[in-house]
Amino acid sequence: MIVRTRFAPSPTGYLHLGGARTALFSWAYARHFGGTFILRIEDTDLERSTPEAVEAILQGMSWLGLSHDEGPFYQMQRMDRYREVVAQMLAAGTAYHCYSSPEEVEAMRERQRAAGEKPRYDGTWRPEAGKILPAIPADRKPVVRFRNPADGDVSWDDVVKGTITIANREMDDLVIARPDGTPTYNFCVVIDDWDMQITHVIRGDDHVNNTPRQINILKALGATLPLYGHVPMILGADGEKLSKRHGAVSVMDYPAQGYLPEAMLNYLARLGWSHGDDEVFSMEQFCAWFDLDHLSKSPAQFNPEKLAWLNNHYIKQADNDRLAGLVKPLMEKDGANFTNAPDLQAVIGLMKERVNTTNELADAAMLFYRTPNPAADLLAQHLNELSRPALQDYAARCQAVEWKKDALSALLKEMLAAHKLKMPQMAMPLRLLLTGQLQTPSIDAVIELFGRDTVLARLTKYL
Ligand code: GLU
Repeated sequence: MIVRTRFAPSPTGYLHLGGARTALFSWAYARHFGGTFILRIEDTDLERSTPEAVEAILQGMSWLGLSHDEGPFYQMQRMDRYREVVAQMLAAGTAYHCYSSPEEVEAMRERQRAAGEKPRYDGTWRPEAGKILPAIPADRKPVVRFRNPADGDVSWDDVVKGTITIANREMDDLVIARPDGTPTYNFCVVIDDWDMQITHVIRGDDHVNNTPRQINILKALGATLPLYGHVPMILGADGEKLSKRHGAVSVMDYPAQGYLPEAMLNYLARLGWSHGDDEVFSMEQFCAWFDLDHLSKSPAQFNPEKLAWLNNHYIKQADNDRLAGLVKPLMEKDGANFTNAPDLQAVIGLMKERVNTTNELADAAMLFYRTPNPAADLLAQHLNELSRPALQDYAARCQAVEWKKDALSALLKEMLAAHKLKMPQMAMPLRLLLTGQLQTPSIDAVIELFGRDTVLARLTKYL
């Protein structure tokens, strides 16, 4: 069997974390088996679907690198096919016209509710052997209903939730086409999964109630059933369904905040799936390991600290060149001056250990690209009668010292000894004069990166 999986988002908003995770699982499953991953845009809800949302989904998938092998297919472009199958089902007797008006159906439901029964379509127009159907009302366009089996059960072995069985009498006859002939949501999903020969449907468990209906329609069509796996929702740390209150839920907010796609992928992979205690792994490893046996039955909780920790890990791993490409535009916006300034990649190499996002990295790197403006009170405190002569001495010696970290470090120590000072007594004013602030990476590294000319210019200005 060739594995064929799909991600089938409705373009009614951004690509959210839950959607991205089911996309990732479907993608990885196809990759694991050398199968095919299909992208399908379920855009039949004309009121809620927008081209911007389609764009946002495509962007999110592309940022994550979840490449599809087929598609994107758009359901709105497949209307003829759905109508064709509706006609075939009408002809085969697995679907029928129902002329009950919406008001009549509502009245039916009211009566059932009042009698303490489950509200459902009562089968007025359902053909049965020997049954005489009511006279067709004039000027009324019918809906098409699926003729759900009256007896027996529908059952499937959900790869996440185990066996689920629903009695057919619990389900009424689903409307599959509206009076204007447009197919309904569940019907389009079924025809697509069938036509696209989907072997594994991995999706959020908000769809678990649709599955028995979808299976019955597939069976009526004589289709081979896919395997279904319904993944539990993602919850916030407070146990509530993940929402904006818990931070960003749109995938594309994360690059904007300075997250790397590999951190997001690694994080999502562990939300509801595990491989022993492995926390940090590449997508190559994930695709090699991913199976449906280790999907969790219980909802995963979103933990932004863990995502930040993974992002820090991947920032440390990332090429400085790549990071420079990400931070430079942000720094330019922040007024960074790159002329006669330290090499950005070297600065990134120095700063990346300690940041959780590339936005933090851009902020931290600004230290080297803005004109320092030490506050007067800090100058008064740190540039005093003890440090000033030592710094003057130091500046003089800087003219000729070899501009390498070790030599610079030795020079600083020599000055400390000569002037009987402790490290902070020189390091603090040096930091202040060179960068305008007291917190910087190691002073030797800072001095080396700035280079002789900048260091001398900034020191002599105040000495
Ligand atoms: N379009 C549905 C959604 O976005 C998914 C349907 C499916 O996966 O079967 O929730």
